[in-house]
Amino acid sequence: MHDDFEVANYSLETLAIRAGHERTFEQEHAEPIFPTSSFVYESAAEAARKFGGKEPGNVYSRFTNPTVHTFERRLAALEGGERCVATSSGMAAILSTALALLSQGDEIVASRSLFGSTVSLFDKYLGKFGIVTRYVELSDLDAWEQAITPATRLLFAETPSNPLSEVADIAALSALAKKSGALLAIDNCFLTPALQRPLELGADLVIHSATKYLDGQGRAIGGAVVGRSTLLEEVFGVVRTCGPCLSPFNAWIFTKGLETLSLRMKAHSENAQALAEWLAAHPAVVKVHYSGLPSHPQHALAKAQQRGFGAVLGVEVTGGQEGAWQVIDATRLLSITGNLGDVKTTITHPATTTHGRLSDAQREAAGIAPGLIRIAVGLESQEDIRADLARGLDALAT
Ligand SMILES: *Cc1c(COP(=O)(O)O)cnc(C)c1O
Repeated sequence: MHDDFEVANYSLETLAIRAGHERTFEQEHAEPIFPTSSFVYESAAEAARKFGGKEPGNVYSRFTNPTVHTFERRLAALEGGERCVATSSGMAAILSTALALLSQGDEIVASRSLFGSTVSLFDKYLGKFGIVTRYVELSDLDAWEQAITPATRLLFAETPSNPLSEVADIAALSALAKKSGALLAIDNCFLTPALQRPLELGADLVIHSATKYLDGQGRAIGGAVVGRSTLLEEVFGVVRTCGPCLSPFNAWIFTKGLETLSLRMKAHSENAQALAEWLAAHPAVVKVHYSGLPSHPQHALAKAQQRGFGAVLGVEVTGGQEGAWQVIDATRLLSITGNLGDVKTTITHPATTTHGRLSDAQREAAGIAPGLIRIAVGLESQEDIRADLARGLDALAT
């Protein structure tokens, strides 16, 4: 990256490839990995200045690391944020944000359709310290407004949701947050900045599980928080002190993953759209949940606030759990796993895996039908994915 590289001058596709790398004296072309825990100084005085924060520079890789910094700068550029702090996992990103910005007695209002561990983090662990979370229907703005109290400090949502692809109006949630003096955090894991930029729509913070599409190939666990510098300085304080920092090697994997992010997300979305349309017409399918389908209740909103519809879809088949398991077990190519964000297509039965711990009533309230299958569409050929699903679906239809 040249010294005069200005993020504002370039498009997302270019930033994904060029932003963040500050070339060293070795003049390397590709981004280097710095697997070092500490750094050395020319003199005691220099060490004193660096430790005292009087001079910028590296001290210890729990605080800063050049490879991690490259990833942070690149992701900040893609999300249009002033600063990014990388973390050891997506959950560490959410925990660090909460520790940094919330105090005892503060309240969170969150969407009901959240990643399971996020709900456990809020209820079981933040709850221990007197932080209360109220859950509302993701797309019901009145419910959000009614759940906000003077103690509300954080609004938290994932959009589109998993596995039903419900969509939240980010700009409207941002207006609510501003009115009530709360911050809005959006978990942008499912769309990534290639398809959705929540900060532009008024969100204060973007949360990532880099484990998913930022890597895109299922190789590493990591996370990140992006937003304005004042907020991120607080998050950085938690990470450098409490220790959920990202390893340089994983940061390098994510940095290289970002280079193909736009291409991958576009291809993921195209494959998912084609599959959703094909599934919707299949006689063994009751319903397809995908915001790219015109039949989706928030299709217009999704179209307006997203650059694509993403790769995750929910498909409800006939025959309840038995039908769903039959379709899953008939696959030979797709991976039966709860993970997503991979070039490999994955298939799972939410009612008995990701949402298995919920009671029947909770599952019904969350819209997780016994016949629901979640597919995170990868980058194999559309024909091969379809053929793998047709085996079970055709048997179910006859
Ligand atoms: C996976 C995931 C997380 C947690 O990320 P990890 O990297 O597994 O800790 C958070 N939010 C969403 C939406 C996820 O899919």
